[in-house]
Amino acid sequence: MKNLFECADGRNFKFAKPQAVFRAKTLPGGYSVTPNRNDSAIRLIQTTVAFVGTQCERGCTLASRYRSVCYRGDYRKRLEKANLEGAICYVEHHFNSSENKCAAYTCALVVSSATPITKRWARAYCRCVAERLGTTMRNGDGVVGLLPGDRGFSNIAAAAMPAMLIEPLFVSNVGHARIIRSREGRLALAQALADSIAEVFPNGGIVGLSVGHKYRDSRPQERGASVIGGGNEADLAESVLILAADILEGVG
Ligand SMILES: [Zn+2]
Repeated sequence: MKNLFECADGRNFKFAKPQAVFRAKTLPGGYSVTPNRNDSAIRLIQTTVAFVGTQCERGCTLASRYRSVCYRGDYRKRLEKANLEGAICYVEHHFNSSENKCAAYTCALVVSSATPITKRWARAYCRCVAERLGTTMRNGDGVVGLLPGDRGFSNIAAAAMPAMLIEPLFVSNVGHARIIRSREGRLALAQALADSIAEVFPNGGIVGLSVGHKYRDSRPQERGASVIGGGNEADLAESVLILAADILEGVG
């Protein structure tokens, strides 16, 4: 177990006020705060604990290890900005769509030459989605390697950090669409993403977020595929990313 949060000076956070109950299991990635007599000020929000803003025994205010940045503009420009800012990881959120209404699997796309840590993150993400939503992972572990020219390749290829394009569910599948349209479903997807980041990038840093099909300079009206029952791919993917950012930053 490792402390997910720390004080601004890098020391482990110890809560100032006396005693509250918490469950280590509820922290993203299984992380825990070392319990002691002074542990307190912990409130549970969904399955994640929000610590941010509370005061430690030395009086400094707790900040999360993670800061999320939503990158906008054309895909290439987003990657250049994320590279420049030194993001620790980068995720572009899409949903899948198929003519075959039965198609239903979870996958994460990475460039085929991706580093082992990138592939590990993609596997962890797909596993977290499958565990929370009971989905089937494509090719066993959900990871798809992209070659130059493949759909999605240029969305992530110029990333200097581990990058993946996620398609956890199908907007064209009735059951999947129902999950995507529900807040609980999107929260489960957000938790899966946050869990995978906490697991693979435990030291924190800037988490780069990109909404597929939205905020592109060259195609500002685009919103991706329509979701069965209402809504569109891009707006619902954005909703998941906002929830994931809140979990990672401990805002709830
Ligand atoms: Zn898409």
